[in-house]
Amino acid sequence: MQHPEADIVIAGGGAAGLATGLALAKSGLRVLIAGVPQSIRDDARSAALFASSFAFLDRHGLGEMLRERGWPLRAIRIVDVTGALVRSPTTTFKAIEIGEPAFGWNVANADILEALIKAARDMPGLELEHALFASCATEDGAVHVTLSDGRVVRASLLIGADGQKSAVREAASIKARIKPYPQVAITCRATHPRDHEDISTEFHTREGPLTFVPSGERRSAIVWLMRPEQADRRAALPPTEFAREAERMSGHFLGPLTLEGPQGRVPMQKLVAERLVAARIALVGEAAHAFPPIGAQGLNLGFRDCDALVRRIVEARRAGKDIGSASVLEDYARERMLDVEARSAGVDMLNTALIGNLLPLDLARAAGLSLFNAIPPLRRIAMRIGGGMPAFGAKP
Ligand SMILES: Cc1cc2nc3c(=O)[nH]c(=O)nc-3n(C[C@H](O)[C@H](O)[C@H](O)COP(=O)(O)OP(=O)(O)OC[C@H]3O[C@@H](n4cnc5c(N)ncnc54)[C@H](O)[C@@H]3O)c2cc1C
Repeated sequence: MQHPEADIVIAGGGAAGLATGLALAKSGLRVLIAGVPQSIRDDARSAALFASSFAFLDRHGLGEMLRERGWPLRAIRIVDVTGALVRSPTTTFKAIEIGEPAFGWNVANADILEALIKAARDMPGLELEHALFASCATEDGAVHVTLSDGRVVRASLLIGADGQKSAVREAASIKARIKPYPQVAITCRATHPRDHEDISTEFHTREGPLTFVPSGERRSAIVWLMRPEQADRRAALPPTEFAREAERMSGHFLGPLTLEGPQGRVPMQKLVAERLVAARIALVGEAAHAFPPIGAQGLNLGFRDCDALVRRIVEARRAGKDIGSASVLEDYARERMLDVEARSAGVDMLNTALIGNLLPLDLARAAGLSLFNAIPPLRRIAMRIGGGMPAFGAKP
């Protein structure tokens, strides 16, 4: 059965797929998003979204509704609790040092999805489908996309925003480099008597960071990376016991923690797609890259993919070009690959240095943070790069 044509089919109703669909439909393109969830699962995950993400979201009228649901992050503090012979100095990066009131906003993933789906339902030209992407074939200058309910949609371009196990990546025969880590992230939320002062605090332990990200008045989202066997043990603990262990590991800096809501559990790996594009196919977000949540880079990187792809597509359309042509997609891939490779390598290096338990790596970590503490201009450059801004010059 042949469905009426769409200009673009997006596989994946996560943050990357929805934001891309909204931005493209707003530019007048007919877009179908497959795999929009029937209901939103809250796994206590949140995303600290930085300047580059809000630059993209604001350009398409989506930023304000996420800021309203989020909590500002005015500083990021790194505390070394590895017990290493050479300890890194505690380092605090303040947004005010780069002339910004906040680095960004921390928003619960469930709130991001709820807000984007609500906006998508009201957007003319945007069709939302629960059916998943099943397969595709490229012929006659189009991509024919088959959905899990058997419908076939003919489009100029297919965007794979379907996460780490991307079926689109597989269908396009794009290989991915995968490096599993001996780590699981446990996510939860807690209230506490002491003020977090809008500071996101990362305690670097030998098993990975334990991070408290402000998510409300005296409320934090917690992301704790640990060995899988520790995750099994801690997941079986009563919430009060789990909270006591998190308090001890973080030096009781927020006072007694009271856990609230659900807990999540995510195994950690690095994944980088060898190519971002194939014939009439482009990948964005975690379909293209994934890594542990150190420095809150994942979705920020994903939104930069969405931004670049939307820009290339809209420019091509204005110029009367085929939006799914190889030249448009190659331009997108060229623009994004360096950022994707550099962020993935950077996070891998930090994570490996942390869990490696090797003196030279501890020395390098300590030296790096000491330099940031001692040389403010260097610290400012690091802060701008971390937030996805150019090292010098204007904001994105
Ligand atoms: C513990 C943790 C903390 C994090 N913290 C941060 C942070 O502070 N800041 C930050 O920037 N990033 C953070 N990240 C990363 C961020 O969560 C991810 O980058 C982001 O959620 C990925 O979004 P996505 O839309 O690319 O993929 P996903 O969220 O995985 O969405 C993919 C969607 O595709 C759907 N799908 C799957 N198969 C198909 C199919 N065949 N057809 C159609 N649809 C399909 C799925 O159901 C899903 O809805 C964190 C990650 C973790 C694990």
